[in-house]
Amino acid sequence: MEAAMNSVEIICPTCGESFEVPAPHESEVPCSVDYDCEICCRPMLVSFWEENGAVNGEAQGLGG
Ligand SMILES: [Zn+2]
Repeated sequence: MEAAMNSVEIICPTCGESFEVPAPHESEVPCSVDYDCEICCRPMLVSFWEENGAVNGEAQGLGG
């Protein structure tokens, strides 16, 4: 386990299941990262931002 690496729980826009992705460091947000859903394997774009000292993330579908 890497203590320095936080993870963020996101909800897949395609299947609605939640899973965790590694969060970027606070100094690197806001940013967006492509991920494939761990459950349905559909691609999504996860936007990260900092809020109250914590990194949050939210997924949106790529469409198509
Ligand atoms: Zn999914």
